[in-house]
Amino acid sequence: MGVLTAERPAVAPARRETMIVGGERVEAADGRTFFVESPARRDSAIAEVPRASAADVDRAVRAAAAAFPAWRATHWRERARALQRIADGLEAHAEEIARTLSMETGNALRTITRPEVKGAADTLRYFAGVASEVKGETVPVGSGMLSYTLREPYGVVGAIVPWNVPITIAVWKIGPALATGNTMVLKPSADAPLAVLELGRICAEHLPPGVLNVVTGLGEECGAALAEHPQVSKLSFTGHTDTGRSVMRAAAERIVPVSLELGGKSPQIVFPDANDDATVAGVIAGMRFTRQGQSCTAGSRLFVHASIADDFLRKLTAKLATIRIGDPLDEASDMGAIASRRQFEKVCGYIAEGAEQKGARLAIGGLPPTQGPLAEGYYVQPTVIAQVANDWRIAREEVFGPVMVAIPWTDEAEVLRMANDTHYGLAAYVWTHDVGRAIRTAHAIDAGFVQIGQGGGQLPGQSYGGFKQSGIGREVSLEGMLEGYTQRKSVTVNLSY
Ligand code: NAD
Repeated sequence: MGVLTAERPAVAPARRETMIVGGERVEAADGRTFFVESPARRDSAIAEVPRASAADVDRAVRAAAAAFPAWRATHWRERARALQRIADGLEAHAEEIARTLSMETGNALRTITRPEVKGAADTLRYFAGVASEVKGETVPVGSGMLSYTLREPYGVVGAIVPWNVPITIAVWKIGPALATGNTMVLKPSADAPLAVLELGRICAEHLPPGVLNVVTGLGEECGAALAEHPQVSKLSFTGHTDTGRSVMRAAAERIVPVSLELGGKSPQIVFPDANDDATVAGVIAGMRFTRQGQSCTAGSRLFVHASIADDFLRKLTAKLATIRIGDPLDEASDMGAIASRRQFEKVCGYIAEGAEQKGARLAIGGLPPTQGPLAEGYYVQPTVIAQVANDWRIAREEVFGPVMVAIPWTDEAEVLRMANDTHYGLAAYVWTHDVGRAIRTAHAIDAGFVQIGQGGGQLPGQSYGGFKQSGIGREVSLEGMLEGYTQRKSVTVNLSY
């Protein structure tokens, strides 16, 4: 675990958290807790948090179910206002939430967590704006009949989110679920539950009790209990593909709809005409190096044309060497720490294995220092392993760390085949100034979120989600809201009855 569960740390953490159930701040019924670790300082606990069991999840789901009829009947205008007020509240507490996020996730304050909180408020405002768009259609079934559709909420949504950008992913679910009249039980990751609890407290100020409940605990206890709860009518999960599979299995038992946003191993294809500084900067952004590569959309497979590969990698590594790594709360840090010991060890394992492969060349980075200030936390430098083959484990499995593999190519058909030769299909990045070629390539890649000439993330309104084992369903958009959080009802009226 990335959380310290086994025993009470020598120094008690300053923060003692409670969960939010039915508008109240509550402990776990059996009083159990766990400790959240600081990625910046090994083995130091920053908070003690309730460890919810199935009984706590049941209480939260019952609270959400009790709140559902009135929330569903609330005019969309009021639901939208509540989301706007939550966005205002997020902005009013932006600095403290950003600092909490940095402390628990290891993401740097200046480059990552401050923008994250601002982006989360924007997302809530987007969903407030489209709350009026929950509408149906009339269907031409013949004279004498009126046939139309309604879109109705499911009821209680069980939402399970990961640790990498907890507030972002929480509002991707809270926004559309609440705008459409559902209520929710939200479970953050045990590695990073603190900022989500702060968000939950803001929500509780502006929502009727029970509309949004936050339970904290371990995935296999609290998460599994939520996925299996008989009164949860819709599951929305973001996390690892293997965990998504088990959530889907739980959903299958009860025939409950499930949205899954899962892992990725996204390609970045650099054509010979893109051997320039703008592409280097874009490739670094696409890899999310300053987020320690801990992004589902990280463009971690760099397919660079053989004719420019050496020169491009020289430019890339020179630029990566300027990234300042350090304490996430330090304004000077561009990049912080890996979120947990478990994740740190996993990333180090991949680096060691990848760099040792015959023919591989470590272009920059490598195993982390064992001495000095960076050895105090889970810091890993930006790492690029060159001359990698697309079938090596490091080119196939999601590392979820600042580790990019560079794979040379010469033929366009071959690079498309390699880019698509993966069970993932989340994002892709195309780097060429030839518009026709760029669009042809974008259309040929099997991925749900493709960018040409830029490496940024998803913006509210853009349909976002994965192909293949990267997921089912779409988020952050009007269609994601309608398809993910409402069910159609068809009504037929005999006009001559
Ligand atoms: P994870 O799957 O380990 O955990 C995600 C959440 O699921 C956590 O809240 C965890 O407690 C819970 N969980 C764990 N076991 C569970 C179970 N048996 N039943 C129910 N819930 C359970 O993932 P993580 O390590 O927190 O996050 C990293 C993963 O998330 C990466 O694979 C990454 O690609 C993915 N991710 C995807 C997206 C996306 O939008 N596609 C975004 C961010 C992260």
